[in-house]
Amino acid sequence: MTHNSSTKLSLLGLDRHELKAELEKIGEKPFRAKQLWHWIYFRGVTDFSRMTTIARPLQEKLGEHYVVGRPELSKQQTSKDTSHKWLFKFIDGNEAETVFIPEEGRGALCLSSQIGCTLTCTFCHTGTQRLVRNLTTSEIVGQLMLARDTYGEWPSPDGERLFSNIVMMGMGEPLFNYDNVAKALHIIMDGDGISISKRRITLSTSGVVPLIRKCGAELGVNLAISLHAVSDELRNIIMPINKKYPLKELLQSCREYPGSSNSRRITFEYVMLKGINDSPADARELVRLVKGIPAKFNLIPFNKWPGAEFNCSEAPVIRRFSEILNDGGYSAPIRVPRGRDILAACGQLKSASETEKISKLKLRRQD
Ligand code: SAH
Ligand code: SF4
Repeated sequence: MTHNSSTKLSLLGLDRHELKAELEKIGEKPFRAKQLWHWIYFRGVTDFSRMTTIARPLQEKLGEHYVVGRPELSKQQTSKDTSHKWLFKFIDGNEAETVFIPEEGRGALCLSSQIGCTLTCTFCHTGTQRLVRNLTTSEIVGQLMLARDTYGEWPSPDGERLFSNIVMMGMGEPLFNYDNVAKALHIIMDGDGISISKRRITLSTSGVVPLIRKCGAELGVNLAISLHAVSDELRNIIMPINKKYPLKELLQSCREYPGSSNSRRITFEYVMLKGINDSPADARELVRLVKGIPAKFNLIPFNKWPGAEFNCSEAPVIRRFSEILNDGGYSAPIRVPRGRDILAACGQLKSASETEKISKLKLRRQD
């Protein structure tokens, strides 16, 4: 539970049951939880005195015990291409990033699930961050709440939305923080509040097989798999989690993923690493591997970061790779990198303070 400096409990991130229990603790009836839920998650109100369906004495009582709460914003930047990045500073001083990618009539918000990442994929900047902890439910939902504050998207619109889609593709492996991520997504999906449907939420995972099953059964959101290699030999090296859950098991869990169909396909993300995983033979093997899975691909040009040992495949090589997948019957768009100028592209996220700390260290070494 998060308390602010005056030790008031923040209500953000409590689920409906917890909210009810809190209100009971201060002698209020459970139906008040429904009212509060509406003000917090449908209207985005943070000040109890603006909750006009709640009588003044109760507003005051709530204010004595609680805050609605938002994470502290440390920095925000807008890219030339209109994507936007927030750097959050949480109560223990740790930081995580959130990225918004607006498009015509819609937009995807990319949420972080951990500070750093539990895993150490060799092409990923986040994976090199030493400090790791799970984000709390409040910190995950808080990213979306503050993003919507920034763009003034309250109350939750009926029709078109700026924040129409949620992707769990920021910092961290969401399935290694399953409980908090699941709770946050239930809050985000709740029809009386933020109300974003599971069909508009995508969870990206490096392949934590048992939890893919759990995620399918309990959340039913869209699934994206960071595949990146067609052999266990290579995947073991670039994504060490493969040693625990090899390709065969991973693909089997995709075959069994509930709710996937030709109109709701599993996305296989594939980062294009020059000379490593980008040959025509790799593309053909990919088509063979996903046979029987309602699949689509997303080819991600590798985003280089300082110290990375890989390079991005040449554009014609990526196009050829995409064509082979198309010929195999699969859609395989090449992702256009967004927000490169503000270091918001895939795999570049790492808390700025850590990047600064490292560069200061390097400077000192050079003295
Ligand atoms: N941990 C989860 C979600 C976050 S990563 C996962 O691995 O799926 C979001 C996507 O960016 C993943 O597909 C990841 O493999 C990819 N990625 C990581 N580093 C990258 C880089 N330097 N360039 C391009 N994509 C990268
Ligand atoms: Fe973690 Fe995903 Fe990066 Fe791998 S690619 S280190 S799982 S964030």
